[in-house]
Amino acid sequence: MAVARESRPHERRVALVPGLVPRLTKAGLQVLVEPSAGAHAGHDDGEYRAAGADVTSKAIDGATVLLGVQPPTIEQVRRLADAAATVSFLPVERELDLVTAMRDSGRTALAMELVPRISRAQTMDALSSQAVVAGYRAALIAAERLPRFLPLLMTAAGTVRPARVLVLGAGVAGLQAIATVRRLGAQVSAYDVRAAAAEEIRSVGGEFIDLGLDTLEGAAGYAREMTEERAVRQRELLAPHVADADALITTASVPGRRAPLLVTAAMVAAMKPGSVVVDLAAEQGGNVEGVRSGEELVSGGILVWGGRNVPSQMPAQASQLYATNVVNLLLLMIDGGALRVDLDDEVIAGCCVTHGGEIRHRPTGELLATGP
Ligand code: NAD
Repeated sequence: MAVARESRPHERRVALVPGLVPRLTKAGLQVLVEPSAGAHAGHDDGEYRAAGADVTSKAIDGATVLLGVQPPTIEQVRRLADAAATVSFLPVERELDLVTAMRDSGRTALAMELVPRISRAQTMDALSSQAVVAGYRAALIAAERLPRFLPLLMTAAGTVRPARVLVLGAGVAGLQAIATVRRLGAQVSAYDVRAAAAEEIRSVGGEFIDLGLDTLEGAAGYAREMTEERAVRQRELLAPHVADADALITTASVPGRRAPLLVTAAMVAAMKPGSVVVDLAAEQGGNVEGVRSGEELVSGGILVWGGRNVPSQMPAQASQLYATNVVNLLLLMIDGGALRVDLDDEVIAGCCVTHGGEIRHRPTGELLATGP
């Protein structure tokens, strides 16, 4: 088994931390790690060696399983054993060439973002573990960039009102952002289209904004895409809340779609100078008009921060959590020290993109048939 060093810029996480190596060796696996694989996440090669792994630049050659955060390159896949499996995030719509190469070479590709969100697979749910990191980080970015206190302060020189923070999209990341800014003393309100969100927002100390609109429930507890008419109405109703906020954190997303546009440039321009906007959906097109992923833009005294691979900004703990998810999934497929991909297991079947020369994930098959 091999752990690849990430070659993509901005990726600072690693798919296996030294503390988890013994779980794999006890299961009968030999663990090989590329030199410096964990360097950004705070783990040097010596730690991996001490934990029982071999550190070698040839780690990938002939490996049965390749663990990564980002998808492997086609060149890396070619170096693996014939019936090898890869475990990583795998945004199939952007990686159709890789998926085709995996299928045609008979290798197994498992996508961490496709692990079913069922109770049994909670310990393998990397979307959730990394969203917790991103939501926390978004809250701290807002707090740090905001040129004012967050809590209510009563001083001899007068009373300072708490900062008002608005969170749009209250899934795993949004709820973590709400909880974090609450702990810092801000007054938080939030909106989400899912019916369960109102109670979830209140449970972490936020005030739910009831816009009087229908909820938008899609499959498996996710949100549905808005119609254009609904999107316009939602923006109109949210505009006064945005204008009133000192900080706005957006995290809304719909699986497999561009992120919904929740806030127009005019809504941002109506905020007070000094306000801060943190858009965690920037990589999926953005919830905020004009946001740029990986950039901070200032216009009219309002700062708009566009997230880019935000979990990598806290690489040590993001890696610890991600590696735990990966190891739990991998051990489901290890039998007597050998790889056994059991497609009767709903967790493995759910996240399997290619196996045995076939595309196993129907939406990917459709994408390949019609083009992205
Ligand atoms: P996500 O990242 O897909 O989306 C983030 C949030 O954006 C969601 O809450 C979504 O409702 C919201 N959103 C989408 N369109 C919106 C719009 N137009 N306006 C406002 N908000 C909008 O979602 P997620 O954080 O991955 O979680 C989604 C759901 O899955 C939640 O209900 C969560 O509790 C549930 N979940 C379940 C499990 C499990 O094990 N069973 C694990 C994780 C998450």
